[in-house]
Amino acid sequence: NKRIATIGDAMVVFNPSKTGPLRFVPSFERAVGGAELNFAIGVTRLDMEAKWISCIGDDEFGKLIYNFARGEGIDVSHVLRTPHIPTSIYFKEIREDGAGKSFYYRNPSPLLELTEDRIDESVLDDVDLLHISGVYLAVCEHNIEVALKLITLAQAKNIPISFDPNLRLKLWTIEDARAVYEKVYPSINLLLTGQDEFELLFEGRTIKDVQESYKIDEIIVKKGEQGATVYTATEQYDREAFSIRAIDTVGAGDAFDAAYVYSYLNGDDIVERLRLANGAGALVATIKGDNEGLPSLQELRQFIGDEKLIER
Ligand code: ATP
Repeated sequence: NKRIATIGDAMVVFNPSKTGPLRFVPSFERAVGGAELNFAIGVTRLDMEAKWISCIGDDEFGKLIYNFARGEGIDVSHVLRTPHIPTSIYFKEIREDGAGKSFYYRNPSPLLELTEDRIDESVLDDVDLLHISGVYLAVCEHNIEVALKLITLAQAKNIPISFDPNLRLKLWTIEDARAVYEKVYPSINLLLTGQDEFELLFEGRTIKDVQESYKIDEIIVKKGEQGATVYTATEQYDREAFSIRAIDTVGAGDAFDAAYVYSYLNGDDIVERLRLANGAGALVATIKGDNEGLPSLQELRQFIGDEKLIER
């Protein structure tokens, strides 16, 4: 089986029992989330292996996250635990149209303890792709050093690198994000970005210009209910989204990334990768929760019409 590695924070998520502003929500349902962990769950459900590199609190919520990740079959052998910093949490607000807002309690983050010297040189030895997300880069200042170490290890082994800017302006400013991302772009093979996010990050620069400046093999632009487009140096591939009723779109981007990377490592062509990725994104948007809706390979194939669904 192919194997991916990713690094990042995970949090206990509190999902609201009803829609509307948080101050009017009387109760919450506890779940587990975090962009990178969601991505790892996404590829694991698609029958690939995922190694999740992280540091969580050595507390009740940390135990919950650890057990949850293990339960999903994720390799947690590179997850550290610290007694000094509590595990991060966040509360979600969901509006009537399914759009979400997040309120984080993640500063300081346990990732403060995951310094560059604690990254094992052999961590990528058995890995086929390294996935970095901008959320990770936003959480602690030293995370860029850690990410660059992983990138260097990946490049030494010719392992492709995917990057999702996952811009979170609640965690840092656009200027800080741009400056840090600049250090990452020249090393990546796949850039998985949202359309608005691309415009915010590159301020009017064209896709072609960005692609040529940093020599990025594929720029994949996620466009919500409009589907997605992939740009290579010479071609452009568009694919419409699946028609669904969105309930909670948080996590659709992570699901898209997981399915795209899965299909990429599987050797599928770009059109097929887009079909699977749009399918995974759409499925997650129809289910409340950040990773609950991440499909198994069979569920995904049934949804996109490759396999027949037998209900009885
Ligand atoms: P996030 O970071 O909030 O998860 P994103 O901006 O990275 O989001 P989106 O473009 O919102 O990603 O969604 C990713 C993919 O999921 C889309 O490209 C599309 O394939 C699918 N998707 C999202 N919303 C819808 C929708 N309303 N209908 C159909 N497909 C959707």
